[in-house]
Amino acid sequence: MTTAKLAGAMEAQRERLLPCVHCGFCLPACPTYNRLGDENDSPRGRLHLMQAVVEGRLDPESDAFQVHIDRCLGCRACEPVCPSGVEYGTLLELARETASTARAPDGLTRGLLTVMASRMLREILFLGGRTLRVTGLASVMVDVLGRIRFAGRLRFALAMLSATRPSVRLGQGVMADGMESQDTEIKDAHAPRVGVGSVGILRGCVQEGLYGRVNDATARTLDVNGYEVRTVTRQDCCGALHAHGGALTAARNLATRNIKAFERAGVDWVVVSAAGCGATMKEYGVLFEGDPMEERARAFSAKVRDVSELLAETGPRSGASVDCTLAYDHPCHLMHAQGISSEPLKVLEAVPGADVRVIAKADECCGGAGIYGMTHPDLGSRIGGDKIAAVRDAGADLVCTPNPGCMMQIGAGFCMEGDAQEAVHPVEVLDESYQRAGYYR
Ligand code: SF4
Ligand code: SF4
Repeated sequence: MTTAKLAGAMEAQRERLLPCVHCGFCLPACPTYNRLGDENDSPRGRLHLMQAVVEGRLDPESDAFQVHIDRCLGCRACEPVCPSGVEYGTLLELARETASTARAPDGLTRGLLTVMASRMLREILFLGGRTLRVTGLASVMVDVLGRIRFAGRLRFALAMLSATRPSVRLGQGVMADGMESQDTEIKDAHAPRVGVGSVGILRGCVQEGLYGRVNDATARTLDVNGYEVRTVTRQDCCGALHAHGGALTAARNLATRNIKAFERAGVDWVVVSAAGCGATMKEYGVLFEGDPMEERARAFSAKVRDVSELLAETGPRSGASVDCTLAYDHPCHLMHAQGISSEPLKVLEAVPGADVRVIAKADECCGGAGIYGMTHPDLGSRIGGDKIAAVRDAGADLVCTPNPGCMMQIGAGFCMEGDAQEAVHPVEVLDESYQRAGYYR
């Protein structure tokens, strides 16, 4: 595609760029600007670069555009603090589409997006991943590769994989025995509640491949709270990784499959337990702007809920005691992109014995951002290192955060330091509490 055509593609976004008044309120919220101190690595600076491409003053193939757009975490911490309501996340995806059309992304990113778009390829990948995980080979290789120079990216990938293992401590270690439940409580649980409706659960790609247990816990805990959980067949990856990488056509193809699958299931709510997927699915309407699918996409998005939203809305049924301390971190795509912060904490309030400690700077990105730790190892490890230190300061038994990317990133950071800190999703803790209460007998 020529530069003129690329600039033309950005031209369509001129209106979205206009609200920026260059006030700079967003700068202190930006993790890359805070670490690098370069205006080009701030939200305002990146918007300037996008504007320059729109106006044809900057070649999208230039390093100035490519490097700084690529270095953005996509954490969207700049959005809630912006007084003008600049839709930074949408603009970033469009800028990345422009950047990747002008210059092909690196092989790692291209490979990942290709695999995630194919059900068969990702099943093969995750089968291999689960094998490495369950045999313990992944963590052994993390140790071995620690002694080999230039193996940093592979080591980090294996540490992320190792971090996806189920928590031993949640199931048996630090927790006290659960109290015995009363028969009446068990009977009450699962009974349909008036007005809560039917749900279909997005199984996802990474979430299903490496965190299937979180999807299962989501289904069980919603069932206990009176929701009718329906199976939704022929659903697919939500397309978040593709959208964030600027592969918008691939993202639309995946989104179309999901819209059709959930329409067929006829559910009241589309439930997701991965913050990154939820943020993208709530914005399918924007993804299809001007497309014949737009209306259906908007109707779909209106039904998307994070599992914590539904549980908090009805007030989750209380379970049995799970005595533990949890270092809680807010996922960016839940807090900044969806405006959800109190709901996961309400879910945890339903677990007697759980002592939740929100870590310092819990609103700042952990450095996960897809495969940022591999594509930007230096900056990624600086941002990730600060998060690990904040988790350590909380002095908790477990890390708790409702997004697979954050669970992998934080878990990998500990794994790289030889520390077996485990990361769990809030619904896993609630699920354990329900198991102990006997709700699943
Ligand atoms: S994006 Fe918003 S906060 Fe940042 S400079 Fe522009 S108007 Fe100000
Ligand atoms: S998305 Fe995050 S890293 Fe990117 S400009 Fe906004 S605050 Fe900075």
